Amino acid sequence: MNRLMVSVSGVRGEVPEVLTPRVAEDFGSAFAAMLGPGRTVVLGRDTRKSGPAIRDAVTAGLTAGGVNVVDLGVVSTPGVALMTKHLNADGGVVITASHNPLPYNGIKFLSPQGWSLPAEQGRRLKELWQARRFAPAKVPGEVTSNDQTHQVHVEAVCNVLEVDAIARRRFKVVLDSINGAGIVGSKLLLERLGCELIHINDDPEADFAHRPEPLAENLVGLCEAVRQAGADIGFAQDPDADRLAIVDETGTYIGEEYTLPLTAAFVLRHRRGDLATNLSTSRMMDAVAERFGVRLHRAPVGEANVAARMVQANCVFGGEGNGGVMDPRVVIVRDSFVGMGLMLNYLAETGKTVSALAGELPRYEMIKEKLPCPSGSAEKVLRAVRAALGSRPAARINEEDGIRVDLPDGWVHVRPSNTEPIIRITAEGDPGGPARSIAAEARRIVEKALGT
Ligand code: MG
Repeated sequence: MNRLMVSVSGVRGEVPEVLTPRVAEDFGSAFAAMLGPGRTVVLGRDTRKSGPAIRDAVTAGLTAGGVNVVDLGVVSTPGVALMTKHLNADGGVVITASHNPLPYNGIKFLSPQGWSLPAEQGRRLKELWQARRFAPAKVPGEVTSNDQTHQVHVEAVCNVLEVDAIARRRFKVVLDSINGAGIVGSKLLLERLGCELIHINDDPEADFAHRPEPLAENLVGLCEAVRQAGADIGFAQDPDADRLAIVDETGTYIGEEYTLPLTAAFVLRHRRGDLATNLSTSRMMDAVAERFGVRLHRAPVGEANVAARMVQANCVFGGEGNGGVMDPRVVIVRDSFVGMGLMLNYLAETGKTVSALAGELPRYEMIKEKLPCPSGSAEKVLRAVRAALGSRPAARINEEDGIRVDLPDGWVHVRPSNTEPIIRITAEGDPGGPARSIAAEARRIVEKALGT
């Protein structure tokens, strides 16, 4: 994969070959053209070594277009989102390739509310970038800096927690920050919550300590550290600290799909209201909604889509099954900080262990696969899936985003990725096989349609 991936939420590619300084500057210019001169954006970046170069290029484009830039330094994606709102800025820019490996970097754009840019505006930004007709503004924008992000973020998260109740428990917590943007703010938060923190991979100058996606195979070290320390819980962040995975008190990775239903179950104990998630997220969320008698809204995959659905349906909580929780009381962006805080509050309030709370959720088996899919072939693939699986007895079809087929014993969601030339297959079913067989069948259909 070595081409520039341009999606509605931003741009990603390997630096410097694909995501060149020129591309970054042009995206800055395009965002400035969209906002207009005299506006202000906040800008943050993760710990990638290529961050400063991309920051300088984007800033050059923004300021040439007359937009002022408030540089937040190395901060998390939810930190940038919160500061966009906090400083009443007209938009936000995050320089990160999230969970992509080190050679990559990316630029993500946020709305004035701090949300991932809605699809319509994302498309407009892409068009402006493609047209590349950027007139320099009469008055260039100014650059200032602000180092308050971590404090503001921790304060906002603590405002939705019972800080004293958590602190009284003196939880022993192991946190793997993958040498990423979550290091400073998370340490501040967990200390404020009275935790005994064992912080691993907390060197912002070092390269990522393992593959950055918070999946079981990448978190062996965290599991071992939890066991050795006899900790109450282990947390793993991704490099821009929007996603959170949890390890239980036995040192077992419980799966990133658990982060959202566990924290949702805690929130609903106190605030009854609807939930939102995407079409690829576990049925555990349906179970939580049912337990509390609220409705679960399902949106197409993509943070902006879930955020929009949360606002539209006035949801009290939402997020994505990839460990991304969104609490509208903080900011409607995936936020590992609020995820950690809510989870610790859940432990404090119930007096139960992580494994006990996870055991209260229904157990399903989920299979996630991805297959290379040349751009332009997605339609053909989806048609084949619809023809083969949609005709099954009792099949329910949702085509809001790729195709999701619900069958009596499980479901499968086949969708082209927004950020990479791949097709994702997600299937879930009761333990003992249906997810595996549905995923395998979907894979055969996709491969046949692609002629591979
Ligand atoms: Mg991320």
